[in-house]
Amino acid sequence: MRPAYRKLSLVLPLGAQETATSFAARLAKRNGVGATRSFCSDMGLDWYKLVVGDTSAVEALAMLGSVDPVMLALNTPRRMNEKCYRVSYETIGFRYMARTKLRFCSRCLQSDQQKTGSIGIYQRVTWQIDAIKTCELHGCFLTEIPSESKYGSVWDFGKQVQSLEKAKYMLAPEITSDISNRLETYLLQRIRAPHGARWIDTLGHHVVAQTSTWLGLLIVQGANPELSSITATDWIALGEVGFAILMRGSAAFSSSLKDIQNQDSIVEPNHRATFCVFYNWLRNRRDDPAFDPIRHVFSEFLFNNYPWPTGTTIFGNEFGEQKLFSISAASTKYSVSTREMATKTLARGCPPSRLRQTELCSENLSLQIRPKCSLRKSAF
Ligand SMILES: [Zn+2]
Repeated sequence: MRPAYRKLSLVLPLGAQETATSFAARLAKRNGVGATRSFCSDMGLDWYKLVVGDTSAVEALAMLGSVDPVMLALNTPRRMNEKCYRVSYETIGFRYMARTKLRFCSRCLQSDQQKTGSIGIYQRVTWQIDAIKTCELHGCFLTEIPSESKYGSVWDFGKQVQSLEKAKYMLAPEITSDISNRLETYLLQRIRAPHGARWIDTLGHHVVAQTSTWLGLLIVQGANPELSSITATDWIALGEVGFAILMRGSAAFSSSLKDIQNQDSIVEPNHRATFCVFYNWLRNRRDDPAFDPIRHVFSEFLFNNYPWPTGTTIFGNEFGEQKLFSISAASTKYSVSTREMATKTLARGCPPSRLRQTELCSENLSLQIRPKCSLRKSAF
């Protein structure tokens, strides 16, 4: 049986996108209680359950404060299991939430302060999502204070803000972003509305955020960028580049990889060298199955565009018959000399400087060398 919660006489309106812990802190302050946990305990609310977004606890808080329980629940991250949270219409992995950091937009806090004083300052749920780096309203970067901050409980936004006011963090200078940020706009839309049906919409929220950024990094700065020199504004611009490609689907993603391969001036066909930063980034996410669709497209591209032997496994994806051959591999396969093989590829107009990169069409080779040999078609 659902417990009966009384309604408080001293209440305040719920802020747009306000989390339950933030609202609880402000409600406590409105009723003259400085410690939010003590307030919750007095009201029969389990503070920890509010922190993890427990449905019944959030509903009880809404009743106490006379606010819309549905809206409060939508804006409160709800722990689904030990790996992920539900945030409105989106599921986000635990490691991609920023719940133990204090993140905020200084201008939003200043606006809250000007409207209703310090009690009006509240936490927006989007500040708890790591992929969101800027304020959609003010176009500035969020300020972030690490969890080892001395400013009180990490979950008690109200208490932390009190400390911030003393430290004048609200008045800290900001870096203003004046560039397009369609990636974050898309990520916010996915939180606020049900998913679409495009390929990108089927990818995990954090998968879109990260793949856009690292693909953009590869395209703009090459295979071996100096990461320490990349600014926060640069990262957003890089994300825009990758996002524009992912928005056009998996074929566009694969096509962008082909463009990178074609632009590579390295003589030796080495996929690790050509895609180094992206390859290593994706390899480091091998324990996250959400990246499987990205791994599938990337590994299929690699197999179709580099001379992998039959039965190769790339990023856990196993492929069948070899499609492309290096000159030496083709020479061995068709029992002809390397020189003869090179001569035949030259005759087909392959540039001499890229002979060893040439992807040999097994069918055409079979026609030229062994007419009766039947092999699968390739993309060459
Ligand atoms: Zn703002």
